[in-house]
Amino acid sequence: MTSSDALVRQMYEELDARDRAVVDEWRGLGNDLFTSLMRARVLGDGPRRHVADDIHEFARRSWSGDYDVEFRTTCEHEAAHAVVARHLPGVTLVDVVARLGGGGLTRFRTPSDQASATVYAAADQWVHGLRCHVLPAGNRFGCGDDRQRLLRHTGGDPFRIREAETKAFRILRENHTEVLAFAELLGQANGEPMTFGG
Ligand SMILES: [Zn+2]
Repeated sequence: MTSSDALVRQMYEELDARDRAVVDEWRGLGNDLFTSLMRARVLGDGPRRHVADDIHEFARRSWSGDYDVEFRTTCEHEAAHAVVARHLPGVTLVDVVARLGGGGLTRFRTPSDQASATVYAAADQWVHGLRCHVLPAGNRFGCGDDRQRLLRHTGGDPFRIREAETKAFRILRENHTEVLAFAELLGQANGEPMTFGG
């Protein structure tokens, strides 16, 4: 890390949580930290600039079928499963992969159906909930059968489904930066699986 990298990192860490979240939106597009600070306009007193404010950028990413957006969406989808698994008691994360050609897999172990349901609910809560303005193509690029697994582990009980979704959403909101960092690592792994203690 060069001294200017350290300075940029320090500027980021001194922002309040709201401004950091705006910067994270820009990082989510693959911008480096310095570029993200500039584009979010968080260093001055004026209005902050969100990704969704940039209509041109939004249109480009919505309609171009950009490959990087696909891979990024897969990485974030799997990162959401993985981070929720890491924060649930009694769940062991085994391995995570985001494949370059699309699709991915997060494997974990738990004896609890409700914990399983919460991990399976996570990707949808992240991609369509917390990140819908940044990942416009949605879950097309993640693992496909989360919904079926959610139904299986809850027996289709609407109360238990809601409970799993709410808990996943809360964990993801509280660990927003960790999900983005995890997605970044998956991206750097370049299609290779990341293996954990399980
Ligand atoms: Zn999934």
